[in-house]
Amino acid sequence: MPVLVMKFGGTSVATPDRIRRAAKRVGVEVARGYDVIVIVSAMSGETNKLVGYVSETSPLYDAREYDAIVSSGENVTAGLMALTLQEMDVPARSWQGWQVPVKTTSTHSAARIEEIPTDNINAKFGEGMRVAVVAGFQGISPEGRITTLGRGGSDTTAVAFAAAFAAERCDIYTDVDGVYTTDPRISGKARKLDRIAFEEMLELASLGAKVLQTRSVELAMRYNVKLRVLSSFEEQSDDAGTLVCAEEEIMESNVVSGIAYSRDEAKMTLISVADRPGIAAAIFGPLSDAGVNVDMIVQNISEEGRTDMTFSCPTDQVLRAEKALADAKARGDINYHDLVADTNVAKVSAVGIGMRSQSGVAAKMFKTLSDEGVNIKVIATSEIKISVLIDRKYMELAVQALHDAFELDKAA
Ligand code: ADP
Ligand code: ASP
Ligand code: MG
Repeated sequence: MPVLVMKFGGTSVATPDRIRRAAKRVGVEVARGYDVIVIVSAMSGETNKLVGYVSETSPLYDAREYDAIVSSGENVTAGLMALTLQEMDVPARSWQGWQVPVKTTSTHSAARIEEIPTDNINAKFGEGMRVAVVAGFQGISPEGRITTLGRGGSDTTAVAFAAAFAAERCDIYTDVDGVYTTDPRISGKARKLDRIAFEEMLELASLGAKVLQTRSVELAMRYNVKLRVLSSFEEQSDDAGTLVCAEEEIMESNVVSGIAYSRDEAKMTLISVADRPGIAAAIFGPLSDAGVNVDMIVQNISEEGRTDMTFSCPTDQVLRAEKALADAKARGDINYHDLVADTNVAKVSAVGIGMRSQSGVAAKMFKTLSDEGVNIKVIATSEIKISVLIDRKYMELAVQALHDAFELDKAA
């Protein structure tokens, strides 16, 4: 029988009643003749609560124990979803990641899926089971420890299962009815896109649009998974939501297709480091070894052989970054006068494939921000995106102004 993957995010499984609503939708697809793999997130708020317990107990925690703790929210919803389906007379059972097993790397809290054996679940489908409910976000390392795939990782679980089982489609059910030109919670003018190209979705996701985890888009692109984002709260027609697809499948699009933002950025500045060959490696090597995801980097003009180096990283990695750099200083590998962390910044980005062939997007972005009196602290660009770091208090204003300036409320 054809296989369908259906993923339900935190708000869609927040209560037993919502789990029942989601299960009914699964029942509809089963009645249509699909064998269904349901991927569930933890109930909304649950993972944040668990992360809070970890930080309270141990600020520079052992990532293996972090994973053991924060993965547990998904165990609850997987079991509840299976029970709910059984109550509806749909043959179903739950799997935790290690039971499948979802084999991952041992990079705890940011593990990558390496392999999903299908025999276990297929054997059960062969015996008449119609729904396999799998706890999202979790896996098992080669060492046999529980791993997690990073925040929002259930999306990646879903796409990886769709690829492994050659599913007809991977439907991501969430609390909005698709991918918008920007977060509909920030701008009332945000417009739902019927289609978005993999590359654009990839950039939007990695720049903060948390509607899909970045890695899930990467996998969908690589394995050509038909990926759809839709609402679990509204009745759905067959062409509802947003289809994430190849660029060639989209007829018209704006030069800029979306604005993304991220509040979770910190700007770190190393004051007065020696400007010599190898200094960047001496700074960013230890940061990378400590698992700090450095994003933007700026090296200032050098004066008398010394310079300031500025970089951005997620706010929850500031402590790790400070420790890695202090250790490198203590070892004598680098020397700096001070390390200043600014956590009151946000990153705002414009994304669009059209930028490849049209110039002037950056100029328009900078002019728009300047007209609003927003100071730009750091800039980063690539072929299809422009990102700026600004004071966090201007973030919503900047998103709205850019959405207006690029006329994203109007279709191409
Ligand atoms: P889930 O719990 O279902 O995984 P998430 O909270 O992770 O849901 O992702 C959905 C949220 O993503 C939406 O509620 C919305 O606020 C946010 N979001 C950010 N950018 C966008 C965008 N461009 N389009 C749609 N939603 C977006
Ligand atoms: N529950 C996890 C999180 O909140 C994974 C997910 O929801 O995708 O990050
Ligand atoms: Mg999510």
